[in-house]
Parts: sequence; structure tokens; C-alpha cells
Amino acid sequence: MTETPSYLFYQSRNPRPFLDRGEGIYLFDESGKRYIDGSSGAMVSNIGHSNPRVLAKIKAQMDKATFGYRLHFRTHPSEDLATKTVEMTPDGLDRVFFVSGGSEAVESAIKLARQYAVTQGQGSRYKVISRFPSYHGCTFGALDLTGYAPLREPFAPMMPGMPKVASPATYLDRDNLTEEARGLKYAELLRDKILEEGPDTVLAFIMEPVGGASTGALVAPDSYYGRVREICDEFGVLLIYDEVMTGAGRTGKFLAAEHWGITPDIVALSKGFGAGYAPLGAIVAGARLVEPVLDAGGFLHGFTYAGNPLACSAGLAVLEELQDQNLIENAARMGDVLMDELRALMDRYPFIGDVRGKGLLTAFEFVSDRSTMEPLDPALQAHSRLVELAYERGLILYSRRTRGGTSGDHFLVAPPLIITKDQITEMMVILRDALDAFALEIGVPVED
Ligand code: PMP
Repeated sequence: MTETPSYLFYQSRNPRPFLDRGEGIYLFDESGKRYIDGSSGAMVSNIGHSNPRVLAKIKAQMDKATFGYRLHFRTHPSEDLATKTVEMTPDGLDRVFFVSGGSEAVESAIKLARQYAVTQGQGSRYKVISRFPSYHGCTFGALDLTGYAPLREPFAPMMPGMPKVASPATYLDRDNLTEEARGLKYAELLRDKILEEGPDTVLAFIMEPVGGASTGALVAPDSYYGRVREICDEFGVLLIYDEVMTGAGRTGKFLAAEHWGITPDIVALSKGFGAGYAPLGAIVAGARLVEPVLDAGGFLHGFTYAGNPLACSAGLAVLEELQDQNLIENAARMGDVLMDELRALMDRYPFIGDVRGKGLLTAFEFVSDRSTMEPLDPALQAHSRLVELAYERGLILYSRRTRGGTSGDHFLVAPPLIITKDQITEMMVILRDALDAFALEIGVPVED
């Protein structure tokens, strides 16, 4: 194959094959090779690829108008998408602001929180507490909240450092606490931090309800979620859920917050919200927060492409598809099937130390020793090696090398929400084949 020169760069060189087309859970490169999109790209393609109903709706909007600036016109796609979003989110979240991606959503959430505090005469509140590890985006503000040192440190000093509390990585804890007590222990870290910083300086706490890129589908004990909400209420700290990865049905509910009956003050959405059919994101907040800001002169924020009719028509078609095809219910059901399959891998591969997740946001993590949960030798580069072995065999996985503040290889398995049981079986055959090849390479015998 002749190399096509590329003037384009991302994080690195090393170009992948050219993408030709997508079809459901599959992607095809230009040589005709088929891949199962086992991570929905970066947990984006929730309704699968090239959905004809969605494409027809986008095309219909394209034929009418692709852009109308929001200061010049209201548009039906943006109004209808806002209505549908409010309908699908829990009560108390009834105002929507559109953006074009996840980092933009996080930035917008922080600015809305800040402007709200100012209207309430609480201008002293500016600190946003986040968790470590965590991922909230790559723009400066969102990066400052991101609890992942390798991404932050090259840019330091960025902005005045924002306080961080430990993510509830309870699978690494070696104490004798019950799960409930562990959840409460991690929530109290937030309370301690608010007191340490001075409650009247703390604007908000931001968290991924189920961890994503940085922690690999980390789910906290149930007790954590309610206690965090209580602590935020106690000190008048706004609770921001970054549901950029978990939102739009990925975990088996429209918002992951619904699993614990939590109503955050602001929710950030993107990824599955446009599901790869358009660059799209949103923040959803209560009128309680938004109306005072509008009354005080308006939200001093907005991106040129915000609420454009083309992206919003795609978002609306995606949410309609989630509803019409019962895809959120399917994510819950297939998530259980996938989780059982992944747990079964632990019998065969001694280097799988943990399997976790919610709905179709699942992960497994490698260790050298399950009793200590020590990570594999970093020299093995396991996170990239297994991804390559799977890719060669036609399965796309998403991996990172970070955990609990140190490092460890974890792999996200997060196929489109349309996946069937047979397709999960098909995916697991390839995954086991890749894991066998990896075991052979590192010289670890597998259990038959
Ligand atoms: N928040 C979370 C939880 C994410 O997973 C991501 C993307 N991985 C972002 C924010 C940033 O989104 P984007 O890359 O679309 O800016």
C-alpha cells in the first residue's frame, strides 16, 4: 500500500488506515477490513453508524438551512432539541444551552455557575473542586479541573490551581470497611476540602458520575452519591455532573445521575448527545439558576456555532432514535450481558484484576498481582499493546494508563447501544483471541 502524505496532526503522527464507511456497530477501512466499534469511537457513536432514519432527518434540515445565527433567528431544531432534552432529563433540569463539544460544555457549566453566584451576591465563590483522577476536557479551564497529571503538568502553571479530592477508587482500597462506609469516607473528603478551602470561596464541585477516560468506568459505592449531594447543599456549593461520556443513555439511563436519584445543579452533555452525527453538546440546568442570570442581563457566554440548526437536527434525531428504538433499555440489558462476559475473563486471565462499569460503559483493568493490585510492568506498554492486538483482529477498544493517582492499564469496552447479544458474543471471541495473544507475548499462562 502506498503511503498518502499527511499535513494533518493530532496528538501524534502514526496514521491509522483511512476510514471508508460505517454500518451499525461496524466500521470499514478502505481495504474493506471490518472492525467492531467496541468503544463507539471515544464513547460517542451511541446509536451506531450511518443510521438511515437519522441521516434522512439531517438531510431534510440540510435542504432547508444549515446555519442561522442564534441572534438573528430562533430555529425549530434547537427549540425542539431543548424541549426533548428537558423531557428526557429528571425534573428540576429545565433550561438548556447548546455547545459543540464536551470541553465547551464543561467551560459553560463553570461560567454559568460563576455568573449565578455573582447574581446571588456570592462573588467570593470561585473555586471549583474536582476529583483526582478525572477528565473534564482539554481547554484551559476544563484542563485545570482535570485530575490527570500527564495532561496538566506540561501546561503548568495554568490558572490558579483548583482544589482536588480523591476519586472513590475503592477497588484499590485494602481496608475493612463496608462498601457503604467506603462511599461515605470518600464523600467526607469533599466536606473536609470545602472546610479547608473556606465554604464561601467554593463555587462548585464537578464529578463524572461514572468515571471515563481517566478511571475506566469507575463507579462509586451507592452511598457516595447522596452524601455528596447533601454536602453540596449544606455549603451552598453547586453540584456539576460531567455527563459528557455517561449521558444520553450510555449507562442504561438517560443521565447516570438517575441511577442514584440525584438532581445535579448543572449537567454537561456531549459525545452520545450528537452520537457522532454532529459536533454537539449542551449544559442542562434548573430555571432556579438560569433565570436570575438572564434577569441580571444575560449569560455572558456563547459560541458561534451554538444551537446551529444542522447540529441540533442531528441531536434531535439521535434522541428520537434512543426513544423509538428503546436503546436506553437495551443499553441496560446488554450492559448486564457484557459485564457477565467480562467478569468471566477473570477466570482465564490472571492479569485482569478488576471489571467494572454501568450499562454499556464497562472496563477491565490489568494487574500483576490481584492480591496487591500492583499494576503490570509499565515497560510492557500493555494499554497500547492490547489495543493493537485487538485492532489487528478487527476490534476497537479504548485504553488509558492511569488509575487512583498512579498508573495502571485499563480498557474501556463501550459498544454502541444498539448492540445485540450475538454481536457481544462476536466481540468477545475477538477480545479473547487478542488477550490470548497478549498473554503469550508477556509469557503468562492462561487458565483453560
Ligand atoms: N468530560 C468528559 C467526562 C469526557 O470524557 C470528555 C472527553 N473525553 C470531555 C469532558 C471533553 O470532551 P471533548 O473532547 O468533546 O471536548
